[in-house]
Amino acid sequence: MIERLFPDKEVDKVESIGLKDLMDQGIKGVIIDIDNTISEWKLDPTENVAAWLEMLKSNGIKICLVSNNRRIRAEKLSRKLEVHAIYSAFKPRRKAFISAITLMGIKASETAVVGDQIFTDIYGGNRLNMFTIYVRPIADRDHWFVKIKRPFEKYVLAKFRVRDFEQKERRLMWKVSSGERKLKKH
Ligand SMILES: [Mg+2]
Repeated sequence: MIERLFPDKEVDKVESIGLKDLMDQGIKGVIIDIDNTISEWKLDPTENVAAWLEMLKSNGIKICLVSNNRRIRAEKLSRKLEVHAIYSAFKPRRKAFISAITLMGIKASETAVVGDQIFTDIYGGNRLNMFTIYVRPIADRDHWFVKIKRPFEKYVLAKFRVRDFEQKERRLMWKVSSGERKLKKH
């Protein structure tokens, strides 16, 4: 079923994920992908991203980077950003996600997964019933193995956006019909 690939939420960049978005879902910790989610491939995260991570940490949200990339990349960022990190994760396999929540000392239901890939980050998080947030990739530059998957992701995202739009429309119509909200007059 294609719904297994749908994220719970979509954002343009990680900094758009507010503390309240996580609090409202009862989230205590976040599993975050590295490449094209918090930084461009082979580069370090920007100051804005680092500040966003600090904001979450200072509000008690636990962070664990989980990457399919190699040790050297994950460990360097783990030291720099002072967060947990798991490398060679083989997402969407469950093992690394479970290791991450064990490190953070939280339950799957208290965990959000943030990533730019549908078939690894989002599907992997959904398999464990975590709250999944899709982030649009920071740049076009990708490993060739990621690149070949992008057209299939586009298809899934198009389906997701249609469903998301319809759900929001239905909710709005319900609010209008129940008198909770008035439609704007143009
Ligand atoms: Mg990625």
